[in-house]
Amino acid sequence: MESNASSSSAWEEVGELYGAESGWVEARKSCDHLPSLSTDLSHIPGPDSHCSRCQHPAENWLCLTCKDVLCSRFINKHMLNHHQETGHCLALSFSDLSVWCFACDAYLDVQMIQQLQPVYEVAHLLKFGQRPPFQAINGNEGSFSS
Ligand SMILES: [Zn+2]
Ligand SMILES: [Zn+2]
Ligand SMILES: [Zn+2]
Repeated sequence: MESNASSSSAWEEVGELYGAESGWVEARKSCDHLPSLSTDLSHIPGPDSHCSRCQHPAENWLCLTCKDVLCSRFINKHMLNHHQETGHCLALSFSDLSVWCFACDAYLDVQMIQQLQPVYEVAHLLKFGQRPPFQAINGNEGSFSS
């Protein structure tokens, strides 16, 4: 078994610049890479799209810059490879619709980042057949309290 654990890469250094610390798993509420989002995210491939490289059939990622569908780091790492080759860093998971930024090395909070909401909404519609139940987008927090 090969281990890459000790090899340092440029990407890890970038991660440190943005304050990525080990164990920090909370979704970020902002991301400097949102300008790289595709300008047309209202038309995206469906959640059952195959990886464009190895045809892996499920739980793939959608590149939010070029809308390529690629498999996860647990399959053949094609989304990760795509990021390393192109610098595209924003990806949406078709398995749980979470958004990951490879440059920030963190999940992004779709509820808090308005630029991500249109594509999240489209993906949710494709996956579940209905729009997502956004909570407290406009500061209506605590709608259940009287
Ligand atoms: Zn980012
Ligand atoms: Zn693949
Ligand atoms: Zn891409």
